Amino acid sequence: MAKVAAGPEIQRLIQLLARLPGLGPRSARRAALHLVKKKEQLLEPLTSALAETRDTILTCDACGNIDTQSPCTLCRDQARDRSLICVVEEVGDLWALERAGVLNGLYHVLGGTLSPLDGVGPDDLAIAKLIARASDPNVKEVLLALNATVEGQSTAHYLMDQLAGANVAVSRLAHGVPIGGELDYLDEGTLAAAVKARKPM
Ligand SMILES: [Zn+2]
Repeated sequence: MAKVAAGPEIQRLIQLLARLPGLGPRSARRAALHLVKKKEQLLEPLTSALAETRDTILTCDACGNIDTQSPCTLCRDQARDRSLICVVEEVGDLWALERAGVLNGLYHVLGGTLSPLDGVGPDDLAIAKLIARASDPNVKEVLLALNATVEGQSTAHYLMDQLAGANVAVSRLAHGVPIGGELDYLDEGTLAAAVKARKPM
């Protein structure tokens, strides 16, 4: 058995940190050591930030975003364009789009994608809620910003069928060559999608 250099409390901290996305056991050990060394500057504020998050975090009843109030800050913001709903798989996708600052509409977080093999059906995602929101006469467009994966795209097709009854335009993100991307490095799927979606200059 490997010798352990630290007591069970530190071991537990390392094990918990190692469960975070992007952190393996090695980086978890480094992070734990860093936290312990920076007790006042980092460990204490982090502890209170975690406790505060645990006590205040909510899922927005309207859109599925994570915030400390429901409806969330985005849903409450009257400056946002209420005629556009952008559908995403996860809250992380919503955050990514907000960071890009390109959309001024509202969002709808599905909570995943349809995946019959994993037992994820329409009732497991926030689809009924989306259809209800899309039926609001103020809503003119639903943008399906789902991942360019097989599951993401089949979910987009399913949603397109479901939204046929609502009086909205349904759009999806363009697929193509990423900004700064070199053709030589792209996979065939991306390249094929970019050629198919070509535009006149
Ligand atoms: Zn919301």
